[in-house]
Amino acid sequence: MKKNIGSKILIILLLNIIVSIFLIGCSNPEDNSEKNNEVLALINGTLIDGSGLEPIFNATIIIRDEYIEEIGQSSDIEVPDGANIIDISGKVMLPGFFNTHVHSNFSDNNLKTWAKAGVTTVRDLGYLGNNSLEQVFTARNDLNTDLTNAHLVASGPLVTTVGGYGSFEVTSPEDARIKVQTLIDSGADIIKIAIEDNLQGRTWPMLSMDEIIVIVNTAHENGVPVSAHISRSEHLEMAIEAGVDDVAHMVIDVLPDSLITQMIEHDMYWEPTLELWKGVSEMYSLNWDNIAMNNLGRFVNAGGKVAIGTDFGGYTTEFDSGMPIREIQMMEDAGMSPMQIIIAGTKNAAHVCNIEDKLGTLEIGKLADIIVVEADPLDDIEALVNIQIVIHNGTIIHTLF
Ligand SMILES: [Zn+2]
Repeated sequence: MKKNIGSKILIILLLNIIVSIFLIGCSNPEDNSEKNNEVLALINGTLIDGSGLEPIFNATIIIRDEYIEEIGQSSDIEVPDGANIIDISGKVMLPGFFNTHVHSNFSDNNLKTWAKAGVTTVRDLGYLGNNSLEQVFTARNDLNTDLTNAHLVASGPLVTTVGGYGSFEVTSPEDARIKVQTLIDSGADIIKIAIEDNLQGRTWPMLSMDEIIVIVNTAHENGVPVSAHISRSEHLEMAIEAGVDDVAHMVIDVLPDSLITQMIEHDMYWEPTLELWKGVSEMYSLNWDNIAMNNLGRFVNAGGKVAIGTDFGGYTTEFDSGMPIREIQMMEDAGMSPMQIIIAGTKNAAHVCNIEDKLGTLEIGKLADIIVVEADPLDDIEALVNIQIVIHNGTIIHTLF
């Protein structure tokens, strides 16, 4: 009996192998054509790669699956047979843009609006709801499986002291180490802390210097960067001393030259949130927007690095929900060139999101997050709102072609 079953199984296995070999043989040509459908070629466009290099005119990008396989002058690149070719003559290709400072509570709708407008990555710097850490980071992972959503980088809740500005409270340096480790183990891409004690008369207790140092060290031991909410120079000084990686608002007092120098020495990045300061200034008749723009101009002139971030959803003022064009216009008014603004929205933004190895510039081997715009943003930065094509992880998610 046993032997019979054994030989029957053997025969079935052999038949399976024969049938499989037959099928592989037959389906070979079909496999090839399917594969070629996964190759996308954008040809004859102008390329601004996000690195700050001069644009390449008449450029081609070859995308295979999710990645950039070839990029450069069209005359140097052979388009593979069977590729899906899109001729974008007269138009301009750039990396997908970022907004590195949002609070959208992981709204599916917002992520879709951003992606369609060419903002293919957002960094959520403070989850405001009541879900558990596990729920928060599971939600992020789920949202990131949908390519029609902007890719979500998330800090989870904002780390603070008991009763402080933020919601994830630590009680001591020892407690800070444990809680930050828990945040990271739960899936935080980045740690966001608050160094804030007074905004328009609203006052809060603040993390101690010892706690801030422990938070930064714990995050760095895990390879995770730290972003700090600050609004004044005295708190920027603490962030610099603790080794924070980027600061999430331009200060609204006059920024001392010595702090500009220190930030550059420490390679710290700045997300100015000018749109926020403009909204607050209009609401309360303040001049914080002007002070912030002046500080930004001096920081950039000295060689400081900037990433685009608006604080979308972080206050009751209005924010652009797609391309952060009002923030971009204010950056230009503050003295940034179109190329500096593009770098702030791509390469530098990917750096503060800790994903510079995969995104932020258009180069071989990186994920293909690419936007095509109608006109040259180096001539007029507002061209960034005229989106023709959005490619996210190699897939066209929006096209007017
Ligand atoms: Zn914020």
